[in-house]
Amino acid sequence: MRKQLIVGNWKMYGSHSANAELLSGIAAARPFMADVAVCVPFPYLSETAVALAAHGIHWGAQDCSAHEQGAYTGEVSAAMLAEFGCRYAIVGHSERRTYHAENDPLVADKAKAALARGVTPIVCVGETLAQREAGETEAVVKRQLSAAIHALAHCVGEMVVAYEPVWAIGTGRTATPEQAQAMHALLRAQLRAATPRADDMKILYGGSVKPDNAATLFAQPDIDGGLIGGASLKVADFVAICRAAD
Ligand code: PEP
Repeated sequence: MRKQLIVGNWKMYGSHSANAELLSGIAAARPFMADVAVCVPFPYLSETAVALAAHGIHWGAQDCSAHEQGAYTGEVSAAMLAEFGCRYAIVGHSERRTYHAENDPLVADKAKAALARGVTPIVCVGETLAQREAGETEAVVKRQLSAAIHALAHCVGEMVVAYEPVWAIGTGRTATPEQAQAMHALLRAQLRAATPRADDMKILYGGSVKPDNAATLFAQPDIDGGLIGGASLKVADFVAICRAAD
């Protein structure tokens, strides 16, 4: 049986005081049945590591460079993330695909760079509303996952996949548990064709997960937890979502 994983994506929110309150609130609410992690803005990795180190909660980043090192101003390498004790790096979040023109090959290279340094990539896939309405959902999501599968080759089984329909991110619109399960089952089938480890891999759901819809989503057989945006910034909500996972 797969252990569930709940990952908070803080996006570009935070301050020293707000972070301290959030992190101590999460730590104080332990233990959780699920694995729990927070992916924070780069400048806050150090304080997050200090706040969480003794609490069995993991932390990570929201992106990582596809390059090892070099003249790439503004980029942060996987080696640097590893030095900060990052367990995870989100790659290919729809906000990066949209606002930073990240495409499938780049996202796949980022996932590969992360894994090469022992940082688990959380590879995000998901369709836009226009793609869903055009009946392209399955093709889009399969194409996105396929790029990561090919880049990671024999290490495919080490990534975490997050299915995040773009129309559900930050909108208050959630995929129904049935819609989400159908997509997760499709992704699992695609992973099964690529690795014997597919049934041990985690596929997270993301998109307006809240305390009141988390348990039903997480109860679906192929949903192994969640990638949580807005609700991960409120201690009570995030803790309630973590508790909804078993
Ligand atoms: C996200 O940022 O990955 C996300 C799912 O956001 P939200 O939970 O706010 O929809």
